[in-house]
Amino acid sequence: MAIGWLFLDMNAFFASVEQQEHPELRGKPVAVVPMLTDTTCCIAASYEAKAYGIKTGTGVAEAKRLCPNIHLIEAKHGPYREYGARIIRTVESCLPISEVWSVDEMVCKLWANEHCLLDAITLGELVKSRIKSEVGECMHCSVGLGPNPFLAKVAAELQKPNGLVVLDDDDLPHKLFRMKLTDFPGISRGMEARLKAAGVFTTEQMYDLSLPQMRAIWGGVGGERWWYQLRGHNVALPPTDRRSVGHSHVLPPELRTRGGAEAVIGRLLEKAAERLRHHGYQARGISLYVRSIDGRTWAAKRRLTACADTWTLLTALRKLEEHPFPIPKQVGVVLYDLLPDAAVTLPLFGEDQKRLEAARAVDGINARYGRGTVSMASVKPVSYTAEDKIAFKKIGEMD
Ligand SMILES: [Mg+2]
Repeated sequence: MAIGWLFLDMNAFFASVEQQEHPELRGKPVAVVPMLTDTTCCIAASYEAKAYGIKTGTGVAEAKRLCPNIHLIEAKHGPYREYGARIIRTVESCLPISEVWSVDEMVCKLWANEHCLLDAITLGELVKSRIKSEVGECMHCSVGLGPNPFLAKVAAELQKPNGLVVLDDDDLPHKLFRMKLTDFPGISRGMEARLKAAGVFTTEQMYDLSLPQMRAIWGGVGGERWWYQLRGHNVALPPTDRRSVGHSHVLPPELRTRGGAEAVIGRLLEKAAERLRHHGYQARGISLYVRSIDGRTWAAKRRLTACADTWTLLTALRKLEEHPFPIPKQVGVVLYDLLPDAAVTLPLFGEDQKRLEAARAVDGINARYGRGTVSMASVKPVSYTAEDKIAFKKIGEMD
């Protein structure tokens, strides 16, 4: 299989921006935090801080204990976005970007004449040196080259900071075996627990699973995608601005009120979120639409940081509901701009991770004992069981 993809991951991105902008912080342990309080956790740590055992997710009190001289800096999203944009421009001066995965990660498809290993490595080196000369000397990055975007990202993970790693036919699968399960993008602690429950403790054991076994452990086609990706196959990534998952429902007359609509909307969201997780995706946008009894359509939408847990999605949805909408006849909820789990960087905060794991646990219970066995407390029960009488209509392109 040819080297077809280049993945770029900036190292300790937020901390590097701080060191670039503030020369007095260079060479020093720096941790970026969402706010200056001991109860929060680090969202990025410079390599000097990592040497003390501080990493993304380390609590601030713990970071201070590990390194009393730590420089704690409050996150400033403006500069991070601006640096992200400069990095994109610089990479695009070397080769076209296929997709930006997060503020500091992007993947590029190589053209046929770049598939030769030496040419691909030269291109990787060019990207790295241009970022250093044009964006800043503190802006280190790891480049991975692989047969698909997933393995290119894994290759970038293998050497940090400042790596340039190739995973091609000669390296597969044995180079993967030195990784722990949780080193793979998309394997959270919760997923690791599921793998362990199935007797899978090492990457080698995961690699030996059959396709149906992976499907069963992941609980859907997400497992199939992993089986193919680990073997270097190209699994089509969804065109992220088109793929969506959603449900709509025509309200029975007694529910054509604001309260009735809100109850049904909550249930529609729970179903859509469950389907999203089942397929191994996260959403970067949510929309709500209401068709009124006189045929008018009202819609509202908002962007999200990639997420898949019901609580976060429901919170965003309730914000959309605050806008006045007409007397409803039909309501619909759509989660859109989807990214596969493996393409999403770890949630910034431990809380996000806990919520996602809680949502997955609820999915497991509902799959076993029936839909709606466990539901969000803030989702009012629908007085008649709409789902039993009229199936919520599936909308969106994902089945
Ligand atoms: Mg990074």
